[in-house]
Amino acid sequence: MFMGVPGENAVGVFSANEYLTRINLMKAYDFPNYATSPIRAKHVITVGGGNVAMDSARCALRTGAKSTVVYRRAREQMPARDEEIHHAEEEGVVFHLLHNPTRIVTDDDNRMVGMEVIRMELGEPDDSGRRRPVPLEGSEYFIEADCCVVSIGNSPNPLIPQTSPDLDTTRWGTIVADENTMLTSKPGVFAGGDVVSGAATVISAMGQAKIAAEHIHKYVMGIPLKEEEPEGTEQPAETAG
Ligand SMILES: Cc1cc2nc3c(=O)[nH]c(=O)nc-3n(C[C@H](O)[C@H](O)[C@H](O)COP(=O)(O)OP(=O)(O)OC[C@H]3O[C@@H](n4cnc5c(N)ncnc54)[C@H](O)[C@@H]3O)c2cc1C
Repeated sequence: MFMGVPGENAVGVFSANEYLTRINLMKAYDFPNYATSPIRAKHVITVGGGNVAMDSARCALRTGAKSTVVYRRAREQMPARDEEIHHAEEEGVVFHLLHNPTRIVTDDDNRMVGMEVIRMELGEPDDSGRRRPVPLEGSEYFIEADCCVVSIGNSPNPLIPQTSPDLDTTRWGTIVADENTMLTSKPGVFAGGDVVSGAATVISAMGQAKIAAEHIHKYVMGIPLKEEEPEGTEQPAETAG
C-alpha cells in the first residue's frame, strides 16, 4: 500500500517489497559490482512501524545510508515485535515517532530531496482499539532525504473480487474461507494464507495450506468435507446457524 501523499511517485520512493527485493535479490548490497539503485541513497526514511519497516530500516543502514523511521503513532502502538524495534535502535536506526509524512519534496527532475512531516498526537481509540493519531496543525517541518521506503502494509490483489463476483470477500478484499476446510464460497475453490487472513506469517500460511490440501483431496475423491453430525445432535432450527 502507498500513502497517497503528493510527490509519492518521485524517483527514490519505493515500496518496502521493491526496496528489499533490490537490496537482497538484486544484490544492491554488493556495490559497485551491482549498481542497483537504493545503494546510492544517503538518507533513507522508512515509513511504518511493522516488522517489514524494521527490516527495511536496518537494510538501509547496512548499505551505508543514514536510516530514519517515521511512524504516526507512539512506540507502544508499533506493530513490530519488541525485539525487532530494539535491534533496529541498537543498530542505529533513528525513530521519529508520532510523525506522519505530508509530502515528498522533489527537485526539477522529480528526484526526492526530502520529506515534509507533521507531528501527531494520540486521540480517541479507533476501530482497531488503538488510539487514533491526530495531526498537530502547523507543526510541519522538512527532513532532507533522498530515499523513502513505504512500509505501511499490503492488501490482496483487487482483481480477485473484480473477476470472481461469486467468491465471497471481506471489506478488506481478503477471501472468505471456512477455517476448518479452507473451502471458499465457490465449490471446488479453496484458499489460505495472507489472502485469507490478511498479512500474517509463513507458519500460519503453511498451516492453512495443510488444512486446504487435506480437504482438496477429500473434495476430488468425493469424500464429504465435514464429518456427519451424529444422530440426535442437530440443533433446534431457531438456534442453528
Ligand atoms: C518484507 C516481508 C518480510 C516478511 N518477513 C516475515 C518473517 O520474517 N516471518 C514470517 O513468518 N513472515 C514474514 N512475512 C510474511 C510472509 O511472507 C507471508 O505471511 C507469507 O508469505 C504468506 O504466504 P502466502 O502463501 O499466503 O502468500 P505469498 O507468499 O504472498 O504467496 C502468494 C503467491 O501467489 C502468487 N500469485 C499471486 N497472484 C497469482 C495469480 N493470479 N496466479 C498465480 N500466482 C499468483 C504470488 O506471486 C506469490 O508467489 C514477511 C512479509 C514481507 C512482505
